[in-house]
Amino acid sequence: MFDLTGLTTLKLPFHAASVLKLSSIENVCVSMPELGSAPRLILGGGSNLVVLEPEFDGVVLRPEIKCFEVTESGSDIFLEVGAGHQWHDIVMQTLERGWFGLENLALIPGWMGAAPVQNIGAYGVELKDHCYRVKLYDFEEEAVIELDASELKFGYRHSILKETPDRFLVLTVTLKLSTVPNPRVGYGAIADELEKQNLKSSDPRDIAKAVMSIRQSKLPDPADTPNVGSFFKNPVVRTDVAERLKAEFPDMPTYPDGAQTKIAAGWMIDHLGLKGHQVGGFSVHDRQALVLTNDGSGNANELRELVALIRSSVKATFGLSLAVEPTQLGQFNRT
Ligand SMILES: Cc1cc2nc3c(=O)[nH]c(=O)nc-3n(C[C@H](O)[C@H](O)[C@H](O)COP(=O)(O)OP(=O)(O)OC[C@H]3O[C@@H](n4cnc5c(N)ncnc54)[C@H](O)[C@@H]3O)c2cc1C
Repeated sequence: MFDLTGLTTLKLPFHAASVLKLSSIENVCVSMPELGSAPRLILGGGSNLVVLEPEFDGVVLRPEIKCFEVTESGSDIFLEVGAGHQWHDIVMQTLERGWFGLENLALIPGWMGAAPVQNIGAYGVELKDHCYRVKLYDFEEEAVIELDASELKFGYRHSILKETPDRFLVLTVTLKLSTVPNPRVGYGAIADELEKQNLKSSDPRDIAKAVMSIRQSKLPDPADTPNVGSFFKNPVVRTDVAERLKAEFPDMPTYPDGAQTKIAAGWMIDHLGLKGHQVGGFSVHDRQALVLTNDGSGNANELRELVALIRSSVKATFGLSLAVEPTQLGQFNRT
């Protein structure tokens, strides 16, 4: 067995029977049909994966494909990037070129290939706003296909790729960026941070700087404190349900989400007094209640216990069910 514990940011024990590095699309096309029916798991930066079973009797695929192809059309920039690049490196490269689009998404950990899987998002922007097309390996058809963004069924931390995890491997992502300024600074504390640091909203690098400062002040760095970012999705409820909750809990932050309303899961966990709550090596982060951290000694059963406590407390007080955001290997509820 190969020890892959260090390849996930939550650092729960993780061993796999085999690991296959995929360095090019040709490499994928030749080696995937040979896998047959062996269980497989695609692993990028491991920053959105919770390993609840320490041994995986299958093959872990590591799509390390690199490419950076630019096509310009007027003020539009179409950038095709390989799945194996670090997301943040690509964000910084686009900002250095003066292209607008990804500045609010700076400092999100992980690889490019995973970005469309859960439609990564932060500070009012989601990948879907800048994803033009993806190139995929389709395990069912044993062929490379392309899907336009409109076919990916993007939603809040959701896409068709998350819905059918065994079907597709992301090979490249084509992003649509622009040379025309389009600052989105109305979300969270971005405008305040720009002013505080005397930064300009007309420069995408300045917006990214503000975003990075805010993130660094709030979120634990997985290099020092193992975590997977937000552990729970913000529940999206009917507006009449949100209004009822708001009447009972006037401080509860709510956000419009299409015809529905999104409720801040972190606020609910904090309101219940669970910030800092610890079960063995796992804790609710003391600055951001949506993040669960591992002090390095935590095991899967301690995480299960902490997750069960948070979910049952939120259900009992607010009547809402919290869904786990990251992908899981293994189950939280053992029957
Ligand atoms: C400190 C911290 C902050 C974070 N902040 C944010 C945030 O602001 N917004 C946000 O949306 N997320 C955030 N995340 C979550 C995470 O960074 C993203 O989900 C990221 O896209 C995961 O990338 P990864 O390469 O690490 O994916 P992995 O953890 O390796 O994989 C995640 C899932 O994607 C699948 N996958 C990976 N690569 C491919 C591929 N090439 N083809 C098909 N499937 C694939 C995996 O099988 C798995 O199911 C944060 C995480 C941390 C630790």
